[in-house]
Amino acid sequence: MSGAIDIISSTIEQKTLNSCNSIIAAFFTGKNIRMNSAKEELFPTFTLKIEVNTKVPNAFEIRIMENNQVFFCQVIDFRTNGLPLPGKEPFFQILLKRAIYIFLTEFTGEVLPWGILSGIRPGKLILRMQDLGLNKETQARILTELYMVSEEKANLLRTINEIQRPYLLKIKERPDLVSVFLTIPFCPSRCFYCSFPSTQLSVKNRGLFQNYLDALYQEVKLTGEMMKELGLKADSIYIGGGTPTILNATELEMLFQVILKNIKMDDQIEYTVEAGRPDTIDYAKLIILKNYQVNRLSINPQSMQEQTLRKIGRNHLVTDVLKCYGLARELSDWVINMDLILGLPGEGPNEIRDSVEKVLTLRPDNLTVHALALKKGSIAWDENYEHSSCQNWLGIQSEVAQQIKSAGLNPYYLYRQKYIVGNLENVGYALEGKECRYNMAIIEEQQNIIGLGAGATSKILKGNSGHINIYNPIDLKHYLKGFREVHLKRKRVLREEHGF
Ligand code: SF4
Repeated sequence: MSGAIDIISSTIEQKTLNSCNSIIAAFFTGKNIRMNSAKEELFPTFTLKIEVNTKVPNAFEIRIMENNQVFFCQVIDFRTNGLPLPGKEPFFQILLKRAIYIFLTEFTGEVLPWGILSGIRPGKLILRMQDLGLNKETQARILTELYMVSEEKANLLRTINEIQRPYLLKIKERPDLVSVFLTIPFCPSRCFYCSFPSTQLSVKNRGLFQNYLDALYQEVKLTGEMMKELGLKADSIYIGGGTPTILNATELEMLFQVILKNIKMDDQIEYTVEAGRPDTIDYAKLIILKNYQVNRLSINPQSMQEQTLRKIGRNHLVTDVLKCYGLARELSDWVINMDLILGLPGEGPNEIRDSVEKVLTLRPDNLTVHALALKKGSIAWDENYEHSSCQNWLGIQSEVAQQIKSAGLNPYYLYRQKYIVGNLENVGYALEGKECRYNMAIIEEQQNIIGLGAGATSKILKGNSGHINIYNPIDLKHYLKGFREVHLKRKRVLREEHGF
């Protein structure tokens, strides 16, 4: 097969055909998918021809050809026994994707665990089905028969939905509660897989760093005034990055003071700080976090293999993770999350199993297992890093899930990304009652989120249908100039959508 695949049709409009690109690409990793670009009568390249069948009612005819010779052809019935359509996507488009999926599964022998479900937030489909009042049996059929999701993934979605339900119900009852996210887009070094526009902090850019902090304090102040005016309180505050703990103790204390002075917090505030890099944590900083009521901490090893940490550009050792975790545990009873990544360079089942075991020995309250996603702007992308194709990623992920569940942690949120290893997903696990409200709010998009700092996104709900994203400039200098304007927009949209 050549490096390109042409997709052609004379009966399906271009836009609908284009929507199937990601499904086809998932079966032909690394191939260039060209939509309707083969203009000639003869098709010298590998070609997928998809037509609405004119002889058989309610059916597509799909064939695979090369050099104009057909070597696999199927007629696929597109009736779905009256299953209702839960999403906004046109029904015909879903049926087309489903037919292509069935055809390519037959042709390649491969099964995709998420079927034709290509969105980042599959949990929202369950929420939509619940809003439509569909019973559990119909929901299960829609997932497995219409979207072709595997039983295992459908069960995972159901488990997560059951854990999330009480939190999401509470969120609906309290529209005056919002999540506030602040970002510190600076890091001590660049991780191999990172596409986040984080700046490496150095002596040279100290001035810019201070200007950034000053602007962020201003933005917090404006937000506090706005929240007071609109009668809003913070349900959760999440300081993420970048690496927030790159701030020294004095800077950290200043940031917390500004937040405390300006942002009105709910009594049950969930207050999280990403202390992602263990090498940026020390006793003095942890004491400050504790004094300012931080009750959740993220200490992220990503891997517990020394050689992997070196390969991915983390400037810390496994012992730094252990020291940092031990110190944090000694100082407070905060909820501690740890992150691991599946698919890091040079890692297979043995290394992954070992890292999961080592992390579980520490008994974290939350464990988030990411699957490596290749993203533009990362060192991995620039170096044309390819996921290892010889691993049974689905099997490894299931094994890891079992290991974690045996330690008493249950899956409570998940999201997917493009170009992710093994077509898997990122899953957050938690001990019962220790789930992170902010993570659920942002992934399921059920609460107003006010994002502060360069590159932060605010999500303002639009009544019962969708939300409006408002973006802060990513570039630091643009942020310094533009944050006031974004603030005014955010305030106007909050007023318009919620009548605050
Ligand atoms: S710590 Fe996070 S934000 Fe910073 S470089 Fe690594 S992945 Fe990117």
